Amino acid sequence: MPQTDHLKTDCSKCAALCCLVLAFDKGKDFAFDKNPCEPCRNLSGHDCSIHDRLAQEGFPGCVAYDCLGAGNRVVQEVFGGQSWQQEPRLTRVMMEAFSGMCEVHKRIDLLRAAGTLPLEPRDEQARRSFLDRLEQHRWSGTELNEFEAGLALEIDIFFHGIASHLPGTPTAGH
Ligand code: SF4
Repeated sequence: MPQTDHLKTDCSKCAALCCLVLAFDKGKDFAFDKNPCEPCRNLSGHDCSIHDRLAQEGFPGCVAYDCLGAGNRVVQEVFGGQSWQQEPRLTRVMMEAFSGMCEVHKRIDLLRAAGTLPLEPRDEQARRSFLDRLEQHRWSGTELNEFEAGLALEIDIFFHGIASHLPGTPTAGH
């Protein structure tokens, strides 16, 4: 049972970061093209103006997307509730921090899932240690920018290691 609820998405505590940062292509999941870092034309403040009819309007991809709580954590923990809409100078750093926090939360999700595996005691200790570091840490924007090239890499190597001595276990992290 997770000790924290960091993976719970709460759009009311976010600043529509996914609707700003993410790109999508016109097709079965999205009704038009959107470039990365371009506010979606359906945004109204921090709300989606077609939220109640996303699928009918041709956006099932938005319904399926879940940032795993990365957006609300970035806005509340890193930026103290501020928004790129009220503070345009924050736009770039908020986008970068959101991307970094998404990577943190993906690893939290994987590390939690690995708790069901029959790990060696040493590996279980490492899993718990990584999880504690990701969940308990209060991240700064700089640390989030450095995450993928640092701790994320250590965690991915850990997953490759445990997959190699758990026959039949799919490689995690990719
Ligand atoms: S359609 Fe709505 S939920 Fe999807 S990206 Fe645009 S504003 Fe966000």
